[in-house]
Amino acid sequence: MKTLFNYINGKWIPSETSRFLDVENPGTGDVLAQVPMSTDVDLTLAVDAARAAYDDWSRTPVSQRVQPLFRLATLLRDNAEAIARQISAEMGKSLPDAHAEVKRTVENCEVACGMPNMIQGDILPGVAEGIDGEVLSMPIGLFAAIVPFNFPSMVPFWFLPYAVASGNTFLLKCSEQTPITSQVQFDLIDRCGFPPGVVNLLNGDKSIASAICAHPEIDGVSFVGSSAVAKLVSEACAKSGKRCQAFGSAKNYLVVMPDAKMEPTVRNMLTSCLGCAGQRCMAASAIACIGDDVHDDVVEQLTEAARQTAVGYPLDPQHVNDDVVGPVISERARQRIESLIGIGVDEGAKLLLDGRGVQVDGHAGGHYVGPTLLGDVRPGMTVERTEIFGPVVVIMKFNSLDEAIEAINGHDYGNGASIYTQNGYWARKFKLETQAGMIGVNVGIPAPVAPLPFGGTKSSLYADVKAQSREVVNFFTEKKVITQRFFDE
Ligand code: NAD
Repeated sequence: MKTLFNYINGKWIPSETSRFLDVENPGTGDVLAQVPMSTDVDLTLAVDAARAAYDDWSRTPVSQRVQPLFRLATLLRDNAEAIARQISAEMGKSLPDAHAEVKRTVENCEVACGMPNMIQGDILPGVAEGIDGEVLSMPIGLFAAIVPFNFPSMVPFWFLPYAVASGNTFLLKCSEQTPITSQVQFDLIDRCGFPPGVVNLLNGDKSIASAICAHPEIDGVSFVGSSAVAKLVSEACAKSGKRCQAFGSAKNYLVVMPDAKMEPTVRNMLTSCLGCAGQRCMAASAIACIGDDVHDDVVEQLTEAARQTAVGYPLDPQHVNDDVVGPVISERARQRIESLIGIGVDEGAKLLLDGRGVQVDGHAGGHYVGPTLLGDVRPGMTVERTEIFGPVVVIMKFNSLDEAIEAINGHDYGNGASIYTQNGYWARKFKLETQAGMIGVNVGIPAPVAPLPFGGTKSSLYADVKAQSREVVNFFTEKKVITQRFFDE
């Protein structure tokens, strides 16, 4: 059985721990590797290495700091198939979805290669007689990222390339459920020419994540995961005086207006709701139909389309080119999702399609839930309030766009929301009035591309600064403002 290593100071080294967890292929139940739960001793090694590397790295010209990232982008692209297969094997998403994730990973690397442009400061000549003002964006020190299981390749790259290109050193704590993708990526990082200690990887669970948040020598933490943990992480970081951006859970609504183009809308909604078996922070999981006719059409067409969607093991040869609904991440997740479906029914939802108990031939050890549709759902019901994080969709009926916006704005989460309409007035109203960080118009997964900021609002984001793009450079740098004059000769 393969045991995973940490990557510290430019070397692969074993953790000193005696505690290991199995990394499982959720589609088959096979154990892929043993992941160490790193200890404070491992963390000290990583922090010491990263702090020792900081002075030289932060003074390295930015044009040189981006050179390893140019090489990394090429290596990631050249190894896309291997990385995508690894993502599918340990996370369970379809191979096309995994390739899309790798593409977004590369894009973030490429955008960060533009750091010589993004990090430029400002000069205001003549703030007073003979005095000039200057603003410099300076690196800060050591940043860490604590990331979730569902995007093991892309989410670290919302932060890693920007943090190092702007002159900081970096420590990634990958998810204990999907840590092998990081091993593959750090093999590439090892080959692209970063000085030792600039980029480091630690395996572990919440215990090492908490130690990172409390560590006095770490200057900032980027967290992505559930909102309950995001809140804890932001509190811990505030207590230890570090910067923090913490991205949390979601319940993303799709609003279908009476003029929506029904055929492409249903196709688009299906991908948003069922892709990655619903385990995307941008997955739609609540559909708001405006009016009786829209409601009846959506129920009929979406139920039929979902019923025909294949459930299977993504790496089975018959599915490698499919958007198949793969497994959910663990047996625990499967049981939680099935229990929430039961709660929905108990609270009065109508089970339009039931994915509980689904079996995939030849993969009895996998954790599968089939597409599930719950009708007659109302705001406030458990299945409407809770992020189910499975292929489960709740369908609601409203009389007007105002009512749907009120439901969305009344929700704790505010990650994404989309409207399907051809009407500019409705689209504009939705864009301006809906409380969500990322809005789609006829786009079911309005996840911004790498050059644009990514992040929600309300309990979906505990932060002032969002991820990726030039926006995140503000998180990884501080503004130093110079006021200077030279007396007359
Ligand atoms: P999780 O919150 O269970 O774990 C996320 C990370 O936090 C892991 O690395 C884990 O080891 C660590 N962790 C767990 N408990 C901790 C604690 N008490 N203190 C410090 N660290 C702790 O999330 P998950 O199940 O891995 O991922 C799914 C969640 O992530 C969903 O809620 C999803 O919406 C969210 N997510 C959000 C975004 C976004 O952009 N908002 C993106 C991807 C995923």
